[in-house]
Amino acid sequence: MKFNLRPVTAFHGGVHPPEFKHLSCDSSIVKAPLPRRLVVPLLQSVGNKARLLVSVGDRVLKGQRIGAPDGSISVAAHAPTSGVVTAIAPARLAHPSGLSELAVTIEPDGEDRWIERLPFDWQHAEPRAVREYLRDMGVVGLGGAVFPSHLKLSDKGKVHTLIVNGAECEPYITCDDRLMREHAEGILAGTRIVRHLLGAREVLIGIEDNKPEAAATMRAAIKASDMQAEVVVVPTLYPSGAAKQLINLLTGTAVPSGVRSTDMGLQCFNVGTLYAIWRALEFGEPAISRVVTLTGHVERPGNYEVLIGTPLDELLQLAAVKPGASGYIYGGPMMGFDLSTLDIGLSKAGNCIIVQNQTEFPEKLQEMPCIRCGKCAEACPIELQPMDLYWFARSKRFDKSQQWELFDCIECGACAYVCPSNIRLVDYFRFSKSEIWAEERKRKEADHARQRFEFRQFREEREKREKAERLAARAAQKHEEAATSADPADAERAAKIKAAMERAAAKKAETGQVAAPAQEPQVELDSDKADRIRAAMEKRAAEKAALEAMTPEEKAARDAEKQARIQAAIEKAAAKKAEAAAKAAEPPPPPEPPAPALDPEKAERIRAAMEKRAAEKAALDAMSPEERAAMEAEKQARIQAAKEKAAAKKAGQSEA
Ligand code: SF4
Ligand code: SF4
Repeated sequence: MKFNLRPVTAFHGGVHPPEFKHLSCDSSIVKAPLPRRLVVPLLQSVGNKARLLVSVGDRVLKGQRIGAPDGSISVAAHAPTSGVVTAIAPARLAHPSGLSELAVTIEPDGEDRWIERLPFDWQHAEPRAVREYLRDMGVVGLGGAVFPSHLKLSDKGKVHTLIVNGAECEPYITCDDRLMREHAEGILAGTRIVRHLLGAREVLIGIEDNKPEAAATMRAAIKASDMQAEVVVVPTLYPSGAAKQLINLLTGTAVPSGVRSTDMGLQCFNVGTLYAIWRALEFGEPAISRVVTLTGHVERPGNYEVLIGTPLDELLQLAAVKPGASGYIYGGPMMGFDLSTLDIGLSKAGNCIIVQNQTEFPEKLQEMPCIRCGKCAEACPIELQPMDLYWFARSKRFDKSQQWELFDCIECGACAYVCPSNIRLVDYFRFSKSEIWAEERKRKEADHARQRFEFRQFREEREKREKAERLAARAAQKHEEAATSADPADAERAAKIKAAMERAAAKKAETGQVAAPAQEPQVELDSDKADRIRAAMEKRAAEKAALEAMTPEEKAARDAEKQARIQAAIEKAAAKKAEAAAKAAEPPPPPEPPAPALDPEKAERIRAAMEKRAAEKAALDAMSPEERAAMEAEKQARIQAAKEKAAAKKAGQSEA
């Protein structure tokens, strides 16, 4: 602290668990021997897994790419040594989820033969080319987050201060401490590269005060170089190595929730990552190994440079696990997770393996109900309310969890460490996050499916439109040709059709049936039908093309006219309906009044007249035609006599 040129700013909360760094901090980094096999997962970062580039039986060289980056949030995977690919199959990941991912198993040939390695001229290359190179070299954050490093280098000009993270605040872990003590120049060289790529003016190197040798070595290395950088020793308080907390400590700037530190001109890199960047650019070495602390209940705790993919059971043989081991932690005791098996390949996130025993890691006590003591909130470096997040997780109210900034939680475990009810709070928070991500994934899949459907519709519409346009163009061409020339083939075909139709009609008239037409006319008639269909299609296409050729105003006018017609029809139908309804609602007409009863005398006269008429009709019906003619002649004579009599009478009256 007394060497600092600048004061440090305390962050909220934090805890100070027993350090146990003394177990391994004095052991120099030892290169681990080649294992019998290497299981290299293709998923090596927080992004997409790499695309497989090899097959079973392939011979590979050390540093050869076995997986290509898939997308921008992805890095390449490399063979950690030379040998033969013996299997490509899903293998368990060193991850709290315990999920499996595709991994390449390599049987080393013992030669450890490198591919050709060439330095990269990062000083003269385009920043984009440097980033792509680092992506292809598989460089990710080695502090545990495995975030692709090239993505953190894309903010050139925005960053004024580069923070170098050498805090290593988790108990037991000493790999960064040893790296700073043994490779300070390499870390500084990486720092110089990153500073250049980001255009940062200032470099601050944060180291906890429990690593005085590392701080001294880094200061000496800075002094020996021409580099402007400052080592800032910070108090040992977990989690001072978290990016936002270290930024706060070194610069006094609190990065608010939802804001990236680069938006405030600050970018943070772990010392191990800077070292890997330097090795990649200066020596053409991809990230195929890392320093791992093996500690806890072991005979030889220490730090080892280990190839990625080394099975953990083989790795632990180096440290010699003592009898009575009760479990294994991958990572530190605060942020790491329990390993259920050692048949896992080392990942780039694997900075430490702790062998547990009952003394230092007694059985976890049973969880008790939350007593709302608030100690978790006091310890939280992000100033969250862990007890509320716990309740939201238990009641699966994930919307509330998000509202209460669950995703700001860095899973540091400080809250669980102080909880008197032994509630494994971080497990609840991880559960909530995974549920929210699963929901988000589902939503994205649904969105994707909808987009695919919409695109298919769009494509079908487009194809239809293009077809209609083609047909319309063909129809227009045909009309044009017909207008300019008389095609004799057309005339001939029309004559054939006519003749066939006449023959069919004649046969029909002759037999009174539809005759089965001869083969040739059938063909012609079919082709006639096809022509009619084609013509109809062409007409439809022409209409459609005409419609599409309309200006928006014309279309609007046409639509308005159509709407008016529809409206009128609707109104007419409505009026008709209303009329029918009104009619239905009218009271029924009164019943016909009963016919007045006839007086008996009149009824008798009518009946007699009817009987007389019926008798006359029957007599008339019984007459022969001659009798009827005679009767008719007599009747006519009578009528004539009556007329003459009437005329004579009239004449006499006139004379008088
Ligand atoms: S520390 Fe534990 S018991 Fe106390 S409020 Fe937080 S969750 Fe509840
Ligand atoms: S685990 Fe999350 S909630 Fe708990 S102290 Fe750490 S940041 Fe806060």
